[in-house]
Amino acid sequence: MKPNRLAVFLVLALCFVMIGLSGCTRITIKPPTAKTCNVAPFADQSEVVHTLNVARLRPMIEVDGENIASDNAPKISMVANLLDQATEIAQEGEGNDVACKVRLTMSPQTMLNPDQAVREFNSNQSECLRKGKICEETDFNEVINQASNMNMKPNAIILVEEIGWCGQTEVDTYWGCTLRGYTIIESACQEGLCPKSESVLWLHEFGHLKDRPDLASNSPKPYVMSGVIDAQNTHLTKCDCFDLRDKRSQ
Ligand SMILES: [Zn+2]
Repeated sequence: MKPNRLAVFLVLALCFVMIGLSGCTRITIKPPTAKTCNVAPFADQSEVVHTLNVARLRPMIEVDGENIASDNAPKISMVANLLDQATEIAQEGEGNDVACKVRLTMSPQTMLNPDQAVREFNSNQSECLRKGKICEETDFNEVINQASNMNMKPNAIILVEEIGWCGQTEVDTYWGCTLRGYTIIESACQEGLCPKSESVLWLHEFGHLKDRPDLASNSPKPYVMSGVIDAQNTHLTKCDCFDLRDKRSQ
């Protein structure tokens, strides 16, 4: 290959890798990633427990010309319920849906105070970040930096008001974005009440943290890893389960 062709090839290859690693959409815009997987039957295995570290980019609100932190933070109990539902979705199985013995939970220490707000941080680096939103790559990097300072890895989940960037120039239909080992979630919960699709979303994004790719949107069966997040998409494959049960951090 000539050097300039090689450069084009490398850029294209990098684009595909970036797209493959990034999050999910209501409308799938990414091609499915084929991944070979030969998993032996896994009967009678013990439950694998993953502890998640959850924080929220806190939006600031303006009161009398001054920015103050909004105080309607999601409670630990809300996240705990979501993780219980995600666990239920993973563990139920019938027909093509694999019953996967994996549990998502928060740290036992956190669970001692379920009425407390989830861990929060804020940033004044941009207008978007002040509103709890990620609009561009610099916003994303700032959020990741702060999460890194809080030692949130592995299994870092960060709640934001809006995701406008996820490894591409612009996205406006993303509910979740998993990139560089961090999961960003645009929560649809209102005052602690969450639609069932929210727990599918959390399990789906955790799947990305464990390196599972999105499936094609026209996939005939209702899979968790479908690119379309829906309350009905609750099925896991054997390969999904194999990766979800992996205890190694990505
Ligand atoms: Zn996805």
